[in-house]
Amino acid sequence: MNDWSRRIREGDARALARAATGIENRDPRALEVLRELQPHAGHAVVVGITGPPGAGKSTLVDAMARELRRQGRTVGIVAVDPTSRRTGGAILGDRIRMLDHHADPGIFIRSMATRGASGGLAQATADMAALLDAAGKDFVIIETVGVGQDEVEIAGVAQLTIVVLVPGMGDDVQAIKAGIMEIADVFVINKSDQPGADRTEREIQAALSLSQDGPKPPIVRTIATDGTGIPELIQAVGSPRLRASVSPRHSQGAHHMQSRIAIIGGSGLYSMPGFEAQEEVVAETPFGSPSDNLVVGKLAGRTVAFLARHGRGHRISPSELNFRANIYALKSLGVERIISLSAVGSLKEEHKPLDFVIPDQFVDRTRGRVSTFFGEGLVAHVGFSDPVCPQLADVVRQACAAAGVTATKGGSYLCMEGPAFSTRAESNLYRSWGMDVIGMTNLQEAKLAREAEICYVTVAMVTDYDCWHPDHDAVTVTDIVANLVKNAENACKVVAAAVERLPEERSCKCGSALAHAIITDRKLVPEATRRKLDLIVGKYFP
Ligand SMILES: [Zn+2]
Repeated sequence: MNDWSRRIREGDARALARAATGIENRDPRALEVLRELQPHAGHAVVVGITGPPGAGKSTLVDAMARELRRQGRTVGIVAVDPTSRRTGGAILGDRIRMLDHHADPGIFIRSMATRGASGGLAQATADMAALLDAAGKDFVIIETVGVGQDEVEIAGVAQLTIVVLVPGMGDDVQAIKAGIMEIADVFVINKSDQPGADRTEREIQAALSLSQDGPKPPIVRTIATDGTGIPELIQAVGSPRLRASVSPRHSQGAHHMQSRIAIIGGSGLYSMPGFEAQEEVVAETPFGSPSDNLVVGKLAGRTVAFLARHGRGHRISPSELNFRANIYALKSLGVERIISLSAVGSLKEEHKPLDFVIPDQFVDRTRGRVSTFFGEGLVAHVGFSDPVCPQLADVVRQACAAAGVTATKGGSYLCMEGPAFSTRAESNLYRSWGMDVIGMTNLQEAKLAREAEICYVTVAMVTDYDCWHPDHDAVTVTDIVANLVKNAENACKVVAAAVERLPEERSCKCGSALAHAIITDRKLVPEATRRKLDLIVGKYFP
């Protein structure tokens, strides 16, 4: 261990501050220190704090830090402020509040404003949290500014997330719930002496009742300015029961778990019966960020990685999906097989709502989506005549039978652009082409999986008949929601049964799809392109 790392381990605040600055600036020497220290991380409780501006988050963080210090525990605070890039410097962490803790070596505060730096804000924040963890802090608190995509992403770095609300926000609870209800592990109603606290609590409970089953996050009332409720909050956050129920260990970089099987589907799968989440991987790829962190754990005795296609909270529309990042991130975990779950409309009378179809063909009706890893001086044409892995499709068919789900093997999945559904004329056109089901996402996944030499199969879950059907308009929202819920239940059963049945080794040709596909003279491939695609093409380059 070099001298710098050693001094950080020994509690030298100046060495820690220098490393924090280096990490924010993505200085290779500081990143090297972080790599050296990484084995010492993993002991801190890493807490994310988010909520709308004006909820008193900074004051709450200060109050928590004070209470933790009173209990003799050390604290690192990372204040994330994406807006301060406008002022060219940090305005949050090193401000007046620091004076309060100035003389206390048990507290370390650092602000972050590194959006646009390589790896992005979430990566720099994750690194900073890991640094403070490795430096021996008992608690690392990540404070974000508001509620937006960045905040949700940064909250993903934490083991658990506190969502701070204040009374009197009314419709705000409704407006923000889609994004944050799913990430909240603890709710805080701050400024709870103000009128409307009861109502806010009722609104939170109402919003929660619409979400997943299982234990509901605790709701803690605080008045951060005078410390009311803070010990209760610390107790809730430190509770091993809460942490065990919500927090697989987050990680990034090279040391995460490997998984040969992946499931792409809804976020509800994380809580599927029999799945034990063990690690949440924050993945970055040369093509950008995947839809969400990958959750890796055990199912039916096998290691399985889950990816929520649209991100937790369903934030990303089909047209906005970064398919390359999603498939690349899975490949980087060692994934060889993807079972992809997809809600679809039926284009044939025989495929009834609640039936599953395992398509063997796709037709592309999307526009302008990037659906190849190749280009930039490296040309490859993979065979795609049979886009679905036959071995995987067989296993899924058996799994449907075992799970008691009516399933048809074979059929064509029409992939439309969306997000609006088809017109009746389009729907009838696709029927005249003999298409079986219609969805918005799976064709690009299948193509990229083939290029990445990953086996791919779609489990198309019929929620309703598309608009061509005379019953279409008679179906109520309640029916559709009921079908979605039932399909999700069935999907969990099918996935578990399929994972259990998968032979250890692949007997298909998917694993060598690129063997004769690369056309470009190897000597002429630009070095940057070769490096970018090394994970995918490396074995074909000497
Ligand atoms: Zn295969």
